Amino acid sequence: MSKPRVIWWIRTDLRLHDNLALQAALDLGPEAFWPVWTWDPKYVYRTRVGCNRWQFLTDCQRNLSESITKLNKKSKLFLIREAPQTLFPKLFKAWKITHLVFEKDTDPYGKDRDAVIIKAAQEAGVEVIVKHGRTLWDSDELVEKNHGKPLMSISQVQAAGLKVGDIARPMSAPISVPDPGTTDMSFEQQPSIPKPDFQRDRERQDKSYEKLIGPNGDFAVPTLEELGIPAATSQIRGGETEALKQLNKILSDKKYTATFAKPDTAPTAFEPQSTTLLSPHLHFGSLSIREFWWGVQNVLKEHKGKHSEPPTSLLGQLLFRDMYFGAQAKLGYSFNQTLYNDHCRFVPWHLPSRVDHETKRVTGDYHIDSPEAEEWFQRWKWGRTGFPWIDALMRQLRQEGWIHHLGRHAVACFLTRGGCYISWERGADVFEEWLLDHESACNAGNWQWLSCTAFYAQYYRCYSPIVFPQKTDKDGAFVIRYCPELKDLPAKYIYEPWKAPLQDQKKAGVRITGDGKDPEKGTYPKPMFDFSERRNICIERMKTAYKVNLYGNDSKAIDGTWKTL
Ligand code: FAD
Repeated sequence: MSKPRVIWWIRTDLRLHDNLALQAALDLGPEAFWPVWTWDPKYVYRTRVGCNRWQFLTDCQRNLSESITKLNKKSKLFLIREAPQTLFPKLFKAWKITHLVFEKDTDPYGKDRDAVIIKAAQEAGVEVIVKHGRTLWDSDELVEKNHGKPLMSISQVQAAGLKVGDIARPMSAPISVPDPGTTDMSFEQQPSIPKPDFQRDRERQDKSYEKLIGPNGDFAVPTLEELGIPAATSQIRGGETEALKQLNKILSDKKYTATFAKPDTAPTAFEPQSTTLLSPHLHFGSLSIREFWWGVQNVLKEHKGKHSEPPTSLLGQLLFRDMYFGAQAKLGYSFNQTLYNDHCRFVPWHLPSRVDHETKRVTGDYHIDSPEAEEWFQRWKWGRTGFPWIDALMRQLRQEGWIHHLGRHAVACFLTRGGCYISWERGADVFEEWLLDHESACNAGNWQWLSCTAFYAQYYRCYSPIVFPQKTDKDGAFVIRYCPELKDLPAKYIYEPWKAPLQDQKKAGVRITGDGKDPEKGTYPKPMFDFSERRNICIERMKTAYKVNLYGNDSKAIDGTWKTL
């Protein structure tokens, strides 16, 4: 029997260490082995992905490719710019593939995509091996052990996790990888490009490989410039080497690791931030979650004295991640929206209006009841609400692609139930575009939590954009970093600059005026509303919404009869 010819298809596991899919591929003892990344059309053309996340992704790809080449000079990451659905059937044939191995994806889109690929592989006689690895426990198994229900609390995750079994200890990176076989892509050129009759066609023919394997025909990781993506602004860089360096630095501070308590970490801290900033690495798989989990466990074993416990400890944070994956694994596409989601409370705020009832998906633009709310939304998004704490956070998000968890709390509460009364789905879209760590399960789940539509119900507890940041940053150093126009204002006005007398504004070289739309140099906008007034209105409305008690799957919510309630 001929030896296996294996494609390791990399998607959410851009690393060599503790990679169960990679290990399964190597265990086959292949005579030819290709690490492959395919262009995913959803990611490339449809999902909102900002330039910073593109930078992080290509950092991870480049770093992995270099690491593979260190193990075998003939090998690398073979990046092919075509959708897997059309590419793989051709590769299976041309490269005589016997096995396709990949890490399990539990995102609803990922599940659908993988089902198509598995079918194509079966038709081509290719054996498929799928290994779980993205979460502590396999999310589908967690659901099964949670009586087939979505995971909605940390205690459910802990109880179901115990039944699924121990979290595996991390494996080391391999010390070598086999040679790749042929990387001939000529099959691609023949049917799709006609014979060149005209110069234009000749040019297309000459450049046809660019379409698939880059301008130098070498399967290289693209640059942002080549992709036509604007230059990134974030200083936060990706790659397995960086991830492991960062993890080791955190674990070497044993006291920090053992006593970490999320509510005590400052959302206003920067350089360094007060939490680990490992989330983008967990998203792209440049860090194994089991490496993180067991690294913390080892520190706890050695640590003398008191240590923190879930849910606030570092291990507790990782459990939250598994919880949201476990909710999404069960609820599928509906988890990411209100409509048809029987776990998401219906609140009649500014709703996405167009729904495709056949696919049960929200499509098209948003309907906004009040033009004022649209204006608030734009001001929130672009960091010009006139509340410096909110504006600094939103500017940090756009510039760096990351904000502290409690900063996310503040802006999400402000947009939804604690200020603007705008749908959480609109905020989640902005996070989807700008976060480096955007993870559909964690994003949707946390937005539901903060908007009190699922997971959490204490809607009367709102974050004040004035009092809350003062607890950790009295003088507003964080605000000044992202809203430098306020830097010379006396500290007592930093969170309420509209209260500064004209004389102080003049002295500080800033005028508090306008709505910030076309800001004149040396100005900062006035607050877009009276916060206390808006908070009270929101709480009253939430009270009514809770009384009416509709959920996203309720027919009254779907057909709009709630308006008459
Ligand atoms: P740490 O505090 O150091 O925690 C360690 C790890 O635990 C994180 O890297 C992360 O993987 C996980 N974790 C911590 N808190 C949470 C949480 N509440 N939910 C899920 N996982 C958690 N996290 C994402 O990974 N992707 C998202 O798209 C995302 N969207 C969010 C949207 C909102 C509105 C809010 C309030 C939170 C969101 N979070 C999201 C959760 C959380 O804010 C980030 O995971 C965390 O701030 C990342 O920073 P860190 O790595 O320093 O976290």
